[in-house]
Amino acid sequence: MRLRRFLSIVPKTVQLWALVIGGCMLLIGLVMGYKTADQGAMLQTMSVYGSGALVFGIVTAIWVLCLGFVFADARRRDMRPILWVLVAALFPHLLGFLLYFVLRQPIAAACTKCGLTVPNHLRFCSWCGASLVPPDSASGPRTANPLQGASQ
Ligand SMILES: [Zn+2]
Repeated sequence: MRLRRFLSIVPKTVQLWALVIGGCMLLIGLVMGYKTADQGAMLQTMSVYGSGALVFGIVTAIWVLCLGFVFADARRRDMRPILWVLVAALFPHLLGFLLYFVLRQPIAAACTKCGLTVPNHLRFCSWCGASLVPPDSASGPRTANPLQGASQ
């Protein structure tokens, strides 16, 4: 399930915030409907405002979840999470999200010695200095395609 994988990355606090913000918007819509309604058409006005607020609340909640996803995903890819959340939030028409998915780095690997996350392109851990290249591939020329190298 892709949704479950998506939600497993989004931090729990962000999920809670999305729920709270969405719920608040629905409540505000219902209250606004209640305040503006005439005596006769109370239920209709409230349901119109309520359903509008529900849609708006759901969209906002999804948006908050996506920002949470960008934050957690950027962190495990050793990119700047705050910066990317701002980019995703501030660029109009979801352009920030698009930019993030185009520019994002591969998932950072954990150092086998100290366990801290290290960008994939490094050959040595920047925390403890341990070699991140497996011993067999460290020696000898590296072939771009391992299958091609084996067939020769
Ligand atoms: Zn290390």
